[in-house]
Amino acid sequence: MPVDALGDYDPNNIFARILRGEIPCRRVHETDHALAFHDINPQAPVHVLVIPKGPYRSWADFSDKASEAEIAGFVRAVGETAKLLGLEAPGYRLLANAGVNAHQEVPHLHVHVFGGKALGPMLA
Ligand code: IMP
Repeated sequence: MPVDALGDYDPNNIFARILRGEIPCRRVHETDHALAFHDINPQAPVHVLVIPKGPYRSWADFSDKASEAEIAGFVRAVGETAKLLGLEAPGYRLLANAGVNAHQEVPHLHVHVFGGKALGPMLA
């Protein structure tokens, strides 16, 4: 079910539980501020999610509440993850679903990293 971008952070959402180690993940990269792991239902040969470690539901939430170090750390981790996955040369796509219209399902901020094949033109 898609989730609203508004509202309080749900500490029991699936990504919060992954961060607490309650649910396993196939980890790709981890830093002080971010975790990257393989999507459980990949939509491309490479499909990885990068999440900030803090409790942020939306981009507005993240922009309002995260420290400069958290913001920089999250953005840096996205680039590092793409590099670690060997996606720099062939290329890759970043995607972030926000709110109901974008069909965001997990109410913890995340960026999808897609790669491993020619992805074609972007679809709105
Ligand atoms: P959204 O639609 O942008 O919120 O995407 C959420 C993503 O989380 C989907 O691509 C799901 O396949 C993925 N997902 C849900 N549960 C898990 C999990 O336990 N491990 C890894 N990925 C998950």
